[in-house]
Amino acid sequence: MVLYIIYRAESAHPPAAFPIITLQCHSKKALKEAFCATPLGVTTATQKEYDLILDIRFIHNLLRSTVQSCYTQTPALTQKHPVKESPLSLASLESLTLEKLQAMEDSSPLSHVISVIHKGTVVTGDIRSVVSDLEYLEPLRTKIMKDNNWTPAHFDLIAWAEYHAAFKKIPRSHQISIAKLSHQLWNTNCQNSKYYGQPAECPICTKTIETVGHIFQCPHQEAIANQKEAFQTMVTSIQKSTPSLVLEALVSGLTQWSTLSQSTTIRSPKVGSRLPSLQIINTAFDAQTSIGWEAFHRGHVTHLWKAAYQQHLRPQKPLTSSQLTFATEKWIKLVITSVWIYSKKLWKFRNQVTHGKMETFTISKAMRLLHDEVRALYEQFNNDPFMLPQTR
Ligand SMILES: [Zn+2]
Repeated sequence: MVLYIIYRAESAHPPAAFPIITLQCHSKKALKEAFCATPLGVTTATQKEYDLILDIRFIHNLLRSTVQSCYTQTPALTQKHPVKESPLSLASLESLTLEKLQAMEDSSPLSHVISVIHKGTVVTGDIRSVVSDLEYLEPLRTKIMKDNNWTPAHFDLIAWAEYHAAFKKIPRSHQISIAKLSHQLWNTNCQNSKYYGQPAECPICTKTIETVGHIFQCPHQEAIANQKEAFQTMVTSIQKSTPSLVLEALVSGLTQWSTLSQSTTIRSPKVGSRLPSLQIINTAFDAQTSIGWEAFHRGHVTHLWKAAYQQHLRPQKPLTSSQLTFATEKWIKLVITSVWIYSKKLWKFRNQVTHGKMETFTISKAMRLLHDEVRALYEQFNNDPFMLPQTR
């Protein structure tokens, strides 16, 4: 956007009438690099504070003949510049049209100091993420709320910052399947039925339609055995760092959801308690129930668990406020990562069954295929009594 303004300003005003553009950037080093003739190194170029600089250099090259002498650094880079809403603020640019810009150019010369202001703050770095957020955040939020049947209140209950941090930490190869899990895009038989006309039933129990939720609730004996083993691994991984009452609530919520029928109400193990310390757990539990325990399996964990954690944490030595915040965020990221690992184990088991890698289920799979074949032959015969099966 800054570059667009520079470009339009340059187009509208000859260099003599528009001699200086002041570039403000929060990084003195990055700014210095921008005016350096030597190319940026790979490491430097991949750091986010250089994003804007790289773009400036791109335009710089594009308009070398006219722009080269028009840049200058601000005299005092570390000086705090007063934040003033200007006609060129980011907010006004959201609704800026070419006609409006033309009118602005005709009525008054553009300021020589260009600032991108967003929510009252000058944006001096990582402009891509600011612009990207403005462009995509709201449609994405609306889509996620629609897919999960959430209200804005539900959406805001989720610990998105920790979710994002946990997601960034897992290897890229795992990020794809976790992203699919998060958005309910696993290729279940329910999906296969919808898009390819294949049977919708669960390949393990063969009784219920296989939705993403069913992967966690399949009542088949072997599926339950696998769930229990994976669940225990998950509990072990968070046990040490989770206060016991919080762990009890998490285990209770997850177990109730995966084993009880849909009509049964999921209740906190401390429901009815009037102790304030337990009410914090109940509040987090109820919030998670309203978001959904199935959503918990996808990493959509309420941030209210953080207050419960802090209330019940008994550190060996007193923690400062920032140490407590750090420990809390680290803990909730661990919970999110552990639940993802759990979910992936269940999905892996289901895939092994589907692709016939487990002997027990290979037989049942073969039987189902034979049944399907017989059924198809009967149907073919009904349509054409003179058909001859290939095997005759
Ligand atoms: Zn099943």
